[in-house]
Amino acid sequence: MSTWSDDARADRLKVLWGQGKSASEVARIVSVEFGVAVTRNSVLSRVHRWGLPLRITGRKRSASTFLPASAQQPKAKPLPTTPAPEPSAEFAVSTLDLAPGQCKWPLNDGRPQWLHCGAQADDGPYCEFHARKSRGAGSLGERAAALTR
Ligand SMILES: [Zn+2]
Repeated sequence: MSTWSDDARADRLKVLWGQGKSASEVARIVSVEFGVAVTRNSVLSRVHRWGLPLRITGRKRSASTFLPASAQQPKAKPLPTTPAPEPSAEFAVSTLDLAPGQCKWPLNDGRPQWLHCGAQADDGPYCEFHARKSRGAGSLGERAAALTR
């Protein structure tokens, strides 16, 4: 780790920078001449700290690298249609007490016994809340896309 305590090194950097060398070029030259590891970032931080004039250096990024801000905005998430509230744990029932039409969503890790949601399951094994949870968020198309990744 360079401390830049060596004035000669600092002067050399300023000279090289003044000659219009890029930060990576300055770093490489100073590293070789002084036998120390100098990174491009440390050169840039020195330039900044010393208030040396900044330049546009190095490769120019192609315009295609930058997308317009509008293209980077994440798409608004579709609003859930009337999200069902999570059923109260007061409905929780053990596996043996689970009756037909009760939500089978497991609420614990099975110790000492499995407890299930137990709320009314209108269609399928789960109540509306847990049916939605079992499918995950997003539209049918978004979920299908996630599965193909
Ligand atoms: Zn449930």
